[in-house]
Amino acid sequence: MFNQYNLDEIRDRARAAFIGMAIGDALGATVEFMTASEIAAKYGLFMEITGGGWLRLKPGQVTDDTEMALCIARAIVASQGWSLEAIARNFAAWLKSRPVDCGDTCRKGIRAYMLNGALVSPPNEWDAGNGAAMRILPVALYSLPDAELLKKCALEQAHLTHNNPVSDAACVCLGEMLQLAICGGAKTRLRRQADGLAARFPTFAFEPYRGLASGYVVDTMQTVFHWFFRGRNFEECLVGTVNQGGDADTTGAICGMLAGAYYGLDGIPRRWTKRMDKKVIAEIEDVSVQLVAASPLVRMYYG
Ligand code: MN
Ligand code: MN
Repeated sequence: MFNQYNLDEIRDRARAAFIGMAIGDALGATVEFMTASEIAAKYGLFMEITGGGWLRLKPGQVTDDTEMALCIARAIVASQGWSLEAIARNFAAWLKSRPVDCGDTCRKGIRAYMLNGALVSPPNEWDAGNGAAMRILPVALYSLPDAELLKKCALEQAHLTHNNPVSDAACVCLGEMLQLAICGGAKTRLRRQADGLAARFPTFAFEPYRGLASGYVVDTMQTVFHWFFRGRNFEECLVGTVNQGGDADTTGAICGMLAGAYYGLDGIPRRWTKRMDKKVIAEIEDVSVQLVAASPLVRMYYG
């Protein structure tokens, strides 16, 4: 079923997914918390990585979305396997380093770990933000192509900060779609996965699109689905998503990982990659390949 050609392509798509996530984060952060009409009035169509925004970023600088995903990736690579404790330790060290941004639910969960070693946040019906879904990519790479391992790891990492059934459903669905795209799945196949989520949780239905792009994971996923399935290339998917405003760095990061996985490295505009922080991109390229190397896919089929 798998051969060397597949493995090269899978590595390529894994790197593209991680780079796409960082690009979506850096692009969207400039217009985070603006409305779609404010963006249109100021930029027409916003489509360049310029930094700025409410966080006063440097051009190409990433935020918590990419940084938390890297915390998970580094923990897996350093442990050569799954260690929730190692992930929590990396989150704690990251929070202490005074990151440029950190969501309230993430901060609450990380503080609970720092205070009493808690690795599971208590269930909370209000913790349905997108903070667990935005960092799912390293889990999808590490668990390739094992759906059970994906689910276990996706939920464990999510519950460090977000313990909520709607967030859980989004994390697992997004992880499955990423794995499908990385293994070369067609958009119609990915669409079935998104429709399946909406069948189990009707709140995720994204047609007709309501135009909401807040940090509520339902709004976030509807925005990503709408623009990912409508876009004809990586750039269209991302530009549509971030011009919706709201939590634009996070919708951008999630759409970027999905579109990166789907369109591959060749699909990512060079003018965007060139604008990114070189150190971040170098680390991303390294951990993406290492996560795939640690996955059951490589151990079972190539090991
Ligand atoms: Mn962010
Ligand atoms: Mn955000």
